[in-house]
Amino acid sequence: MTARIGFYEKEWETQSPEERESRKAAWLAETVRYAYEHCETVKEKMDEAGVGPDAIKTIKDLEKIPITPKRDLVRLNQEKGPFGGLLGVPPEELKRVYISPGPIYDPHGREKDAYSLQPIFYNAGFRKGDRVLNTFSYHLTPAGIFCDEAINALGCVLIPTGVGNTEVQIKTMLDLQVNGYVGVPSFLMSLIEKAEQKGYDFNKDFAMEVAFVAGEILPDSMRRRLEEDYHIIVRQGLIIADIGGISYECAEKNGMHFSEHRAVEIVDPQTGKQLGPGEVGEVVVTPLRHQTYPVIRLGTGDLSYYEEEPCTCGRTSKRMMKIVGRVDQVTKVRGMFIHPSQVEEVVKAFAEVVKARVRVDREGARDLMLFDVELAEGVTGSDALKTKIEEKIREVLKLRGDVSFVERGTIPEGAKVIEDVRKWE
Ligand SMILES: [Zn+2]
Repeated sequence: MTARIGFYEKEWETQSPEERESRKAAWLAETVRYAYEHCETVKEKMDEAGVGPDAIKTIKDLEKIPITPKRDLVRLNQEKGPFGGLLGVPPEELKRVYISPGPIYDPHGREKDAYSLQPIFYNAGFRKGDRVLNTFSYHLTPAGIFCDEAINALGCVLIPTGVGNTEVQIKTMLDLQVNGYVGVPSFLMSLIEKAEQKGYDFNKDFAMEVAFVAGEILPDSMRRRLEEDYHIIVRQGLIIADIGGISYECAEKNGMHFSEHRAVEIVDPQTGKQLGPGEVGEVVVTPLRHQTYPVIRLGTGDLSYYEEEPCTCGRTSKRMMKIVGRVDQVTKVRGMFIHPSQVEEVVKAFAEVVKARVRVDREGARDLMLFDVELAEGVTGSDALKTKIEEKIREVLKLRGDVSFVERGTIPEGAKVIEDVRKWE
């Protein structure tokens, strides 16, 4: 295990927050100027907002530039042709072009580690000589190839298998004694389960040691099984098709460290203003010193929040604590965003609770968060249980909520988890 711990870019990963801010600010100023001078869409957007490149000197200054939500990339590709006016180099200099649904054409440039994934895979524990099964798709989407290139650059041996073909994947894992996995977490779990159904003892017959998972939520229960029952080091990160790595977990699994190569913001999706630690908002990202595709303030649509105390791993960067959900499902209560997945988290924390629904209402100028809770057969709603649930609500949603126990069957099947019943006159 110790061999799998360590820093990829120690100087940057451990520098003081002030030094990091000023390094990133300098890179950002350079990037914004380059994008303004080379990308029609960036220039138009900044001119419209009345902001010149000179006005961007810090990450805070990014608030002056409107966000480009990911869904706008579809529109920009339709209106302005492939790359949507965001390509910063001549098209004949590209290495590859990927196609995302929309279609969005994603350019892959020739800069070293164009998607900033090498630090992420190294810090996740991949090392020279590992035999890594890459189950991300190798066509259309960039995921397969860009992970392949980055892991290859670390000296690992790649086995490009892509999605599906479970039987072949299991045989390959066995024959080549594969010890690394890249892909979505549920597929790793299903490979293990299928291997067991075939009569193998996964721990004895297979060599799996380290897995990097992304692309879907990793449930705590699945992570525990992979780590405790199968002794696999499981790390996750936030990676998106358009610009690659955004954040990653270290050995401490204490949230996902912001990439040293990105300006990462957590913002109020309605105003674009940056939020403080613990506040849930949209993840917005700007690749730094990236000339091929310098998208300034790409809105990922993912919701998260960050913490800034130093991590015990020695890295000093801010950490994205978890992906809470998607921007299009949020409701704002007392200035904080709440998401259906947070309500689910509260429900799952109590064996006594089977279902909950939140009604957001208003009393005078104050938002109320009312939790209707249905209890399991035979459980009676006590004051002690009400208090415990309310404490959990505070912990998970960072807001006070009022719990009422309701008769079983009160919350209709398929009802919205969060119902906004506020009237705005
Ligand atoms: Zn850490």
